[in-house]
Formats: sequence, C-alpha cells, structure tokens
Amino acid sequence: MKLPGLTKIFNRMKKLFRALVIIFALLVLIVIIKTATFSSMQLKPEAIELPAFPDASVEHLSEAITYPTISEAIDSPVDTAAFKGFHKFLMEAYPLIHRDLKKEVFSSFSLLYTWEGSDSRLKPVVLTAHLDVVPTGELSSWSEPPFSGKNDGTFIWGRGTLDDKSSMISIMEAVEKLLSENYKPERTIYLAFGHDEEIGGLKGAGVMAGELVKRNLDAEFVLDEGYAVTIGMVPMIKKPVALIGTSEKGYLSVSLSVEMEGGHSAFPARESAITLITGALNRIVSNQMKSGISEPVNDFIRYIGPEMPWYARAIFANKWLFKGLILKIYEGGNNSNALVRTTTAPTIIHAGIKDNVIPTRAEAVVNFRILPGETSGDVINHLERVIADDRISIRPLEDLKEPAPVSPIDAPGFDIIHKTIRQVYPEALVAPTMMLAASDSRKYLGISRNIYNFAPIIVTDEDLARTHGLNERTQIGHFIRGVGFYYQLIRNCNNQSAG
Ligand SMILES: [Zn+2]
Repeated sequence: MKLPGLTKIFNRMKKLFRALVIIFALLVLIVIIKTATFSSMQLKPEAIELPAFPDASVEHLSEAITYPTISEAIDSPVDTAAFKGFHKFLMEAYPLIHRDLKKEVFSSFSLLYTWEGSDSRLKPVVLTAHLDVVPTGELSSWSEPPFSGKNDGTFIWGRGTLDDKSSMISIMEAVEKLLSENYKPERTIYLAFGHDEEIGGLKGAGVMAGELVKRNLDAEFVLDEGYAVTIGMVPMIKKPVALIGTSEKGYLSVSLSVEMEGGHSAFPARESAITLITGALNRIVSNQMKSGISEPVNDFIRYIGPEMPWYARAIFANKWLFKGLILKIYEGGNNSNALVRTTTAPTIIHAGIKDNVIPTRAEAVVNFRILPGETSGDVINHLERVIADDRISIRPLEDLKEPAPVSPIDAPGFDIIHKTIRQVYPEALVAPTMMLAASDSRKYLGISRNIYNFAPIIVTDEDLARTHGLNERTQIGHFIRGVGFYYQLIRNCNNQSAG
C-alpha cells in the first residue's frame, strides 16, 4: 500500500537534503579556495652581508649603561650629572656624528640630531629612542650592579640594555659607521632622543615633536621602540616573529561616585553608597564592550595567518565564516583578549571610615584601554546603559587619550622596515600589530601619520620580565645585529624599492 502524502514528504526531504549537501560542498569549496589563495605577505629581498662593526660598539653600550639616567616622576628632579655625563660620553664616542650632523638640545637633556639629505624632494625619516631608564628596584636582587654595564663575554648587563639604550646606541653606531664610509643619505635623517619617555615624554619627545611641527616637517615615517623580534610569543608559529606596532589603544579612566544618606550600621537600609558602587562595578565587569577584529588585528592575521599550520590557516583565511571562533580564541588569554576589545579594569575604590558607620559617599575608578575604531564617547555611552542608575555619577578623568590612528601598512615606510627586518633577521617573519602599551611615538603624529614601533632587539618572555624588572641584560650578538638593522635601514631609505 502506498500513501501519496508520505511520498510527497519524502520527495521534499530528499530535495532539501540534496540542497543542504550542495550548500555544504560549496562552503567547503570556498574555504579550500580561500585557504589556498591566502598567500604569504613576507617580502623576499635580496640577501645582504653586513659589514663588521668595530669592537668599540660593544664597549660603547657598556659605557652608556654606566650613566644612571633615571627618570622617576614628572616633578622629581633628574640626575643632571648623569645626563650631562652621558651627553659628554656621546660626543667622545661619536666624533663623526658630532662633526657632520646638526645637534640641538631641548629641555636641557633631550637630543635632536639632523643628518641633512642630498635630495630635498624626498621626505625625511625620524628614528627615535630614549635616553632615560626606569629605577632599578631592589639593588640586592640584581646579580650584577644595574649601572655596571658589565660585559661577561655573552651578555651586557644593566638597566637600559633592553629598554632603550641598546636601540639608542645602535642608531649612533650605525650612523657613525656610515659616516666613516662617506655614506650620503638622500633623505634627511633625524635622530630624536627624548630624556623622559618613561614618565610620559612631555618635556622630551613632546617638545621636540612640537618644534618639528613648527618647522613644518612632513616625515615619511617615524620609527620608535615598542615591539621587537619575539621568540615563542606568537602561538602556533615556531619561527621568530618581528612585530611592528602600527597603532596604540586609547586611554580613559572614569570615576564612578555615589552620594547618599549614611547612618548607623545597626539598622541599615537595603542599599548604601557601597552596595550601589559595587553593584555598578559588577555590572560593568560582567557586561564589557563587545569584542571585534580591529584594523591592526586584521592586518596581523593577514601577515601571520598564511604562516600557520593548515588547519589554523583555514580558519584565519576564512574570517567571514570563522569570525566567532577567532574571537573566542583571542578572548581566551588576557593579552590576546586586550587585542580584540576595549578592556575594563577597576583600579581604585574608596568608601568608609569606620566599621560601624555606613558611609555617605563611595567612589571607584575604572580604567579602559580603547580599541582603535572606538572612542571614549562609545565607552561612556556603554557605561550609562549598563549601569542604568542616575544615582551614580559617571565622570571621565582628565588624562584621556583617544586611540591613535592606525598607521598604513601599504606605505613606503612600512615596506622599508619590513624589508630591512627580512634582510637582517632572515629567519624571522614580519607582522604588523597593535601596541598595548604607550611610547613616545604618538607625540610625532603632527609630523607623520606613518608611525611604526619596532626596536631591533630579540626577546623571549623571560627577557620581557627583565625589561623594567631585575637583571636586565642583552646578548652581545643581538646588540650587534641591532646596529646592523639601523645601518641597513638607513641604506634602504635611499633605495626604497621594497622588492
Ligand atoms: Zn622604552
């Protein structure tokens, strides 16, 4: 016996099943095609041979470390003798630079050198680093005294060997070497060394950048510290990865406060200033700003994705399909989470003076690091919506910084840096990414939109802990390669085809 109705249903299901199979096959096909065409972005420049740099280079780094050029707080006096001594050392160590470049001093301690180029139609390049270092912390915990600059044959030890005297001295060594070879740059090269980067850079980079803006400088690019050649820090990539920072997150602190009746703790009301503030904090921590793939992270994926194992490559090549999964992966770690969202961190809370008195006022401060593409206004709107209680006043604090505009990766400056890294560190991959911390570099936005953060040092997680920490040190071989990086970078600025 046949049921005609049932046959119809079967036929319809068959059709539906066939359609589903076709859709699935199409999806798989698109994923395969996208994965196969997700081509490497790594430049393959001709190999180079760097010259031998004089042994004095290493001695110069050692000596540079012996000047305790600490910047401690905006208002505290600096160690004038340390900075002046450092300046004098630079004059003696780099006679050609002091013969051929124009030197200007700003705010007593910051140094700006100008190496005039031969072709005024080409835009200048600004290389920056900073002269100051952070305090040492507990002296007895250092295995070598932090201002010894000790050379043990493998490492140079001391404060500044990673951040940032190694870069600063590498730049000086490279320029001195080029001058000794009678090299003539086509572009004008500025060397800008601030003296207060670690405390905000207002008097150093801030003043120098202001002066360059006044002189109408329009720079091709600015290169500052920030990222490095990292080892073992990018998941699923065995090779070293040279990260180049192309943007900086914004900075916003918001004060939340409540004023209401206090009273005796023996007969409390259901709500108090404290319960309202803690309730608001709970709500904003459990309802954070939405995650998303911002432009610099998108660029990072475009550069790193093709270098990953095939299964990861398939995911990153198909953001249109796997965006949710990619965000889940990023949200898994604290650092990677900070790359995909505006982060929320309660940092201060004040309320109460006595154990049996209900306070009339409670205040909390929450710090947000704003993702490029969002603004402080978006954060405030989000807070008002999530807190949804007009008894709580929401007030942004003064030191607000909107996210920096994202520096382009299809610009000559990025190509020159990318090419130079691939020549000097041929074993490393290159990828643009977002800065999670701030440096002096964004002070130079008035002279260029092309600001890149990369210093030629090689770092592992362990080295990162030494930066601003104890037992800072750098490998001698790594430092010499850093000199080679700036040497080649300046040469590549002359011949900028990035092939
Ligand atoms: Zn630094």
